[in-house]
Amino acid sequence: MSAVSGLEIQEPSIFQRGAPGRKGTDVPDPGDATPSIPAGLLRKSAPGLPSVSEQEVVRHFTRLSRRNYGIDVGFYPLGSCTMKHNPRINEDVAGLKGFKAIHPYSPPARTQGALAVMWELAEALAEISGMTGVSLAPAAGAHGELTGMLVIRKALEARGDPRKKVLIPDTAHGTNPASCVLCNYKAVEVKSSQEGILDPASVAQAMDEDVAAIMITNPNTLGLFEVDLPKVADIVHDKGGLVYGDGANLNAIMGRVRPACLGLDVIQFNLHKTFSTPHGGGGPGAGPVGVVKDLDPFLPVPRVVRGPDGSYALSEDFPSSIGRMRTFAGQFGVMVRALTYIRALGAAGLKDVSDMAVLNANYLRARLCDHFHLPFSQPCMHEVVFSDQKQAGNDVHTMDMAKALMDRGFHPPTVYFPLIVSGAIMIEPTETEDRATLDEFVEAMVAIASQAESDPESLHETPTLTSVSRPDEVLAARKPVLTWPGT
Ligand SMILES: *Cc1c(COP(=O)(O)O)cnc(C)c1O
Repeated sequence: MSAVSGLEIQEPSIFQRGAPGRKGTDVPDPGDATPSIPAGLLRKSAPGLPSVSEQEVVRHFTRLSRRNYGIDVGFYPLGSCTMKHNPRINEDVAGLKGFKAIHPYSPPARTQGALAVMWELAEALAEISGMTGVSLAPAAGAHGELTGMLVIRKALEARGDPRKKVLIPDTAHGTNPASCVLCNYKAVEVKSSQEGILDPASVAQAMDEDVAAIMITNPNTLGLFEVDLPKVADIVHDKGGLVYGDGANLNAIMGRVRPACLGLDVIQFNLHKTFSTPHGGGGPGAGPVGVVKDLDPFLPVPRVVRGPDGSYALSEDFPSSIGRMRTFAGQFGVMVRALTYIRALGAAGLKDVSDMAVLNANYLRARLCDHFHLPFSQPCMHEVVFSDQKQAGNDVHTMDMAKALMDRGFHPPTVYFPLIVSGAIMIEPTETEDRATLDEFVEAMVAIASQAESDPESLHETPTLTSVSRPDEVLAARKPVLTWPGT
């Protein structure tokens, strides 16, 4: 079998199962109950369904699932992605029939419990962030960014001054410039200082009356706290701009600082990162958006409202709203999981999450800094960024070391991001890993660093123990072949 988008399937037979006549179930003979189907609609030939037994199907999918790597299999230190354990109590609650089986068109009188969950989650997120209004509509972090930037655009239009540009630090996630371009803004890059954080002077220089907003991630994607954020916010506000906070990295500061107190006007929350709902291949996420009071009228509809008698409803009666961001009210199952997580931990527990996430990242920083180049040496927040500078002289690069980790049973860290660090290795352990796991990971990393000295060639061959070795990732992402050839 030929290459599938650069992804060599080494055993084509794993897909070619079954034999004519095999089946997994017996459909009862309908006998005389056969409905009369008009001749023109009758099939001329049998449908091309697979002929496989139940056992073959079960084995096929179970075998494929074992080739996957997920947080339930092992350590997954993918920086900026917060791959933490998803507590199973979240699943128990989301699986309750009254939550799982409701239909989005059910009348509010029959969905009071679900609306209460949405109301309480929005309240909890407002409390955590210090924001006034929260919309649960956005389906992901990037969708939350888009929603927040549309809110900013609408608010500035209401002032008669929509403006043209958005400032974005050079450490930003790629979704930030994409979101602002979708809102018809030009992205203007602001360079970070030698210390890897924003310099208020650079922001002041770039700030003018054409700038609608600045988009800031705090801690930034170097894992560093933007200590001058309040000064930066003042500079932007003084010239009539707004401050958008990319809240994907809330795992470092939740319970410790309310982002609104740092001068942010808008923030998105990645429920699938900080609030432990599954993501990646594991399920849908959600990217609620919180805003300060002045921006509240512009949030998307429908919104959950509470009447004087305490009953809830979904309302579209917000004339300044940017409108709908999606068909229904949001990813409801994800909301139930996030609220369960928040309630199970309580305020003190959420603060512990941040503290332990930061402690774990600094533990890895301290244990690995003699073996890998650390471009920014100050204490980090929830993630730490190394580079391949020490190994590059032996022609061993970040990709080689990431692939070598796979042979040792770990998911690789984020690689080559943030872009301002050449050969970046971005490690986010999260708070849900114990010290023994962190130590095993350190041993693997140190062993790879010494292999880079003693036998650098061997690292170009890794991974050798996985079913797929080094696919052409760009080709596989840009031109995926999603059907099996010949079927
Ligand atoms: C993950 C992430 C996003 C995007 O979130 P998605 O849910 O993947 O759309 C944006 N910014 C940062 C800093 C992130 O880590």
